Amino acid sequence: MKQYDYLIVGAGLFGAVFAHEATKQGKKCLVIDKRNHLGGNIYCEETEGINVHKYGAHIFHTNDKTIWDYVNSFVEFNRYTNSPLANYAGELYNLPFNMNTFYQLWKVKTPQEAQAKINEQVAESGITDPQNLEEQAISLVGTDIYQKLIKGYTEKQWGRKATELPAFIIKRLPLRFTFDNNYFNDKYQGIPIGGYNKLTEGLLKGIEVRTSVDFFADKESWMNLAETLVFTGHIDEYYDYRFGKLEYRSLRFENETLDEPNFQGNAVVNYTESHIPYTRIIEHKHFEFGTQAKTVVTKEYPCEWTSGMEAYYPINDEKNTATYRQYKALADQEANIIFGGRLAEYKYYDMHQVIGSALATTKKVFQ
Ligand code: FAD
Ligand code: UDP
Repeated sequence: MKQYDYLIVGAGLFGAVFAHEATKQGKKCLVIDKRNHLGGNIYCEETEGINVHKYGAHIFHTNDKTIWDYVNSFVEFNRYTNSPLANYAGELYNLPFNMNTFYQLWKVKTPQEAQAKINEQVAESGITDPQNLEEQAISLVGTDIYQKLIKGYTEKQWGRKATELPAFIIKRLPLRFTFDNNYFNDKYQGIPIGGYNKLTEGLLKGIEVRTSVDFFADKESWMNLAETLVFTGHIDEYYDYRFGKLEYRSLRFENETLDEPNFQGNAVVNYTESHIPYTRIIEHKHFEFGTQAKTVVTKEYPCEWTSGMEAYYPINDEKNTATYRQYKALADQEANIIFGGRLAEYKYYDMHQVIGSALATTKKVFQ
């Protein structure tokens, strides 16, 4: 008999949900994380009474009532609705692409006029069977929107040509012919009142956790502590990079505290021109309707990931997908290891999807 039923590597959402559900089943869990805090990428740090999303802005959204009720059982969510703006050449446009955007671009006032304008541009492009992000974007919204609001942003975000990127990335954004600036189509949306750390604390309440410990510094000893390993770190690192390194995009965050109450009047403003090195400016207080005297803003600079940096976005192109499949084949053969989450599944997961995946996993394990 080993000391723990589960050793959970990573105190992000996947690890925390798994630990919570396993503990509910009477299992003994130990959660470790190499960072000096819990929560993984949803972790917030308080500055001037404002919850600063330390690893990038996080807006919770889901269509699944079970997942919405689940997160609300740990912390109440506010009514925040994400409605970012895009700044292109000094002009502001509403996102996602909707009647407000079409009016700002073309002065069209009806859905019929907007659709006709897009159809005309799509027809001119000649694209009928989109094979990559550029073709997908043009065939959805036409060339004007692609050139002004997508190409520059996408190419700096991913460090790759839009023609080399998978089409699915752009399908994340809604396109609608109503005057509705809600960035998501999901039924439920919001930010935890008091910040995301409350969600993490609720999930991990009463569970043994150790921070600032790297699993790989002493892999064998950690493995010997528990019957089963739940691994939410890098799958390629777990297998000593034997098939090569999986690629990621990383981000550099430049935070500034400003001595004014309201810098940009919105939580998210995207900068879609390629010559501006950051992709967006986040003003954190607006996620919680803050009324503090000061404000904290963050500029997000995308960059290529190298060892030692935080790996934020998996690059799910053909090459990396093929490499990941090789690791996945090894993972599938493991009897006492569960791989889960953004890094271990090398998947561009949102929070609700990670929670859904962790709940599905525990359901299967404890059925
Ligand atoms: P993580 O949160 O990355 O947790 C993995 C943990 O494992 C980390 O804490 C890491 O330190 C630890 N770990 C790794 N290796 C080791 C090791 N060797 N030893 C010990 N510990 C280890 N989702 C949304 O729904 N809405 C959003 O608006 C949104 N915005 C985002 C913005 C950005 C910039 C990014 C990058 C992501 C965003 N997401 C958003 C996605 C969201 O962050 C993830 O879906 C979710 O947090 C992933 O949880 P996870 O547990 O899989 O991974
Ligand atoms: N995107 C864009 N222009 C924008 C916002 C997004 O072209 O103003 C594209 C870009 O390729 C991005 C993708 O849409 O990677 C998905 O955007 P989302 O806001 O969902 O990205 P995330 O929040 O995950 O960074």
